[in-house]
Amino acid sequence: MAELETFRMLIAGEQVDAASGATFETQNPYTGRPWATVPDCGPADVDAAVGAARAALDGEWGSMTAFARAACLRRLGDLVAENAEALARTEVNDSGKLYREMIGQLNALGGWYSYFAGVATTIEGRQIPSPNPNYLVYTRREPVGVVAAITPWNSPLLLMTWKLAPALAAGCTVVIKPSEHSPASTLRFAELAEKAGIPAGVVNVVSTNDRDTAAHLAGHPGVDKVAFTGSTATGRAIAKAAAENLNKVTLELGGKSPQVVFDDADLEAAANGIIAGVFAATGQTCMAGSRLIVHADVHDELVRLVAERAAKIRLGDPNAEDTEMGPVANGPQYEKVLGFLDTARAEGNTIAYGGAAEDGLGGYFVQPTVITGVTRESTVYREEVFGPVLAALTFTDEDEAVKLANDTPYGLAGAVWTKDVHRAHRVAGRIRAGSVWINAYRVVAPNVPFGGFGHSGLGRENGLHAVDDYLEEKAIWVELSGGTRDPFTLG
Ligand code: NAD
Repeated sequence: MAELETFRMLIAGEQVDAASGATFETQNPYTGRPWATVPDCGPADVDAAVGAARAALDGEWGSMTAFARAACLRRLGDLVAENAEALARTEVNDSGKLYREMIGQLNALGGWYSYFAGVATTIEGRQIPSPNPNYLVYTRREPVGVVAAITPWNSPLLLMTWKLAPALAAGCTVVIKPSEHSPASTLRFAELAEKAGIPAGVVNVVSTNDRDTAAHLAGHPGVDKVAFTGSTATGRAIAKAAAENLNKVTLELGGKSPQVVFDDADLEAAANGIIAGVFAATGQTCMAGSRLIVHADVHDELVRLVAERAAKIRLGDPNAEDTEMGPVANGPQYEKVLGFLDTARAEGNTIAYGGAAEDGLGGYFVQPTVITGVTRESTVYREEVFGPVLAALTFTDEDEAVKLANDTPYGLAGAVWTKDVHRAHRVAGRIRAGSVWINAYRVVAPNVPFGGFGHSGLGRENGLHAVDDYLEEKAIWVELSGGTRDPFTLG
């Protein structure tokens, strides 16, 4: 058996093991075998990382100009681009996602660092008119402090970057904790932060297989802001921990995003967008377009097109060039997805295509699945599956379509498929979600805000305003006359 790769954490600029020496193995979901050993840190290591981040804030980093921070961000982006292939392979080993998707993500990732490098030099205060002529009033925008960035197993480096790049632009320091299911790429990435000339302690990465240790970081009194992507249940726990410390928090959580298809839509294009939305990445994206809300007149034709394409999807080795769908990322997730399929059958839904595990390939493979005959009460229609499962429901008029689209506590994303330009914008405006695509799906960019309404989260990542969540605004009052005033009155 091949030797396992080993990874170390980054704390205070040093590559370290857990203080206890404990490690855990991370499994390759395609081979079903462990492929790497990573440190299994405990609360004491988290304390050390938070302490290092605090010291770095009070050190060289804290007095660096925005231009110098921007230069660090650009160098980091360049290093990510130079190391894209190795990082992408690491992500594939850990999460089973396709190499062709991960290399695309990694090649684009540098763009986030260069975008936020630009943003760093636009962070400005204001001069505010004073009601009293003896005062000059202005504001400064200062880093919020130490940020805990807690990330999930799907697209670890992309979702980490959505936190790290604005945090560094703002002048914060960071402790990153990747998911226990896919920690390796973030640990490898940490080495680049050092090479980019970012001072020791500004970027720290810890890994743990213990969720209490993760909670210790989220609720740490030395942390000033928590940035999280993951499940709604964990997001709620993190928001409570942050509230206890009166900390800022941004949350990117789950979704049950609607794909609304009108009867005048280009059905071939819609079928393609639906496949991209729910079968790409094996459906393991927060923005998965998992609810198909389709006009009754085109339901059968669209389901036929999607099922035909689903039948041609090539499942297999995520590293192979022609593979289109890899395995589900880990054992618990695989069991969860299969459980949803059993529930759909038990609730009388119709499996129009797929509906089972794909045996014979090794690893955690699930067939791309199209479920029809669902109702608004069906579990598969209401709950986030986080797997390659599409649930379809019909409508007959626009109001009903909008009502169904919004019939969810989530609000992360959605799409409208129609050739009618008036209707396209009208319906996009009425869907309660943070991102709505018209005749498209699953496009993101560093300069476009992304985040959720309702149970899909708090705050926005990406875009100019993402940096605001990493800044505090300070008002400075300057007395100009040099005189004294009555100390017992205000002003
Ligand atoms: P999760 O929310 O349980 O974990 C996400 C991250 O939070 C991980 O790093 C985990 O270690 C950490 N964590 C867990 N409990 C914590 C706590 N109490 N305090 C601080 N950190 C904590 O998600 P998961 O286990 O990776 O996946 C579970 C489900 O979440 C999936 O089935 C899927 O439905 C959903 N999910 C959603 C997204 C998304 O982008 N919206 C991403 C991944 C998973």
